[in-house]
Amino acid sequence: MRQLTYDGVPIPGLNDLVRTAIRLHPASGEPRPDESHLGGPLLWPSDEPWPECPVTWPPDPDASDDAWTGGHRLDGPVPVMVSVAQFFRDDFPELHFPEGTDVLQVLFCPLEHDSPHHRGPAVRLVWRDSGEVGDIADPPPAPEAAEAAFRPVPCVFEPCSIDELPRVCDFPAETRAALGIADGAAEDPEGWPELGQYSKIGGWTAWSATGPVELGCRDCGARLLQTIALATEEHEVGCGCEVAEDAPAGWTLGRRGVLNIFTCPADASHPFKVRID
Ligand SMILES: [Zn+2]
Ligand SMILES: [Zn+2]
Ligand SMILES: [Zn+2]
Repeated sequence: MRQLTYDGVPIPGLNDLVRTAIRLHPASGEPRPDESHLGGPLLWPSDEPWPECPVTWPPDPDASDDAWTGGHRLDGPVPVMVSVAQFFRDDFPELHFPEGTDVLQVLFCPLEHDSPHHRGPAVRLVWRDSGEVGDIADPPPAPEAAEAAFRPVPCVFEPCSIDELPRVCDFPAETRAALGIADGAAEDPEGWPELGQYSKIGGWTAWSATGPVELGCRDCGARLLQTIALATEEHEVGCGCEVAEDAPAGWTLGRRGVLNIFTCPADASHPFKVRID
């Protein structure tokens, strides 16, 4: 890659900030349980109960994900979680699958939850060995109070890879200093490559509504990494692919924003965190 410049001056080290993201390009389809998808059927064993909403009321201060210390009031039964996405290692080796697993399943409790950081669905990740799944479960009906806005229309993926630079607000302190960017400056300079909103694996967080946050692993203290972005809209950003629909999943996350899942680089099965931007 060419040497990156800032205000026309080549800056050593800037190239190290490039991360290659796998853009998912969801497109409506009819995925099977043994395929990667948004909103389709999960490869879920028929003898394993569907997970229930992990958010308790009153809030549990020791909840595994500090993004969800609030909760909906539970007057009826605990809501069952619904399928949101599935990623097979064969399709997405870029995900750091914990040893012995080859499929990542993402589920939502599709109700509004209060949290210190945002409102939205509660999220659960399940890392699984697909070889251990025999009979596949029929998905349960969504809870009655489910928000349609949190349920994606079934989509298949047409992935491509795309090199991303962080928003300037996400630069490491030493890079900001080297570039003479004032602390607290959030606006990208003119001509800086745009970081659009789209569903992806890896890459940088496209902060557009809120600001960057330092997220540490609750287990080992490592800095959590942007891992999965689920976007309301799929922006056209010149990746070379045609974007057929700008909102193929038909859902609304945040203020037509992106639900970002951050995982631990040391071990993806450590507690993750979620920020809706
Ligand atoms: Zn819930
Ligand atoms: Zn960790
Ligand atoms: Zn593309």
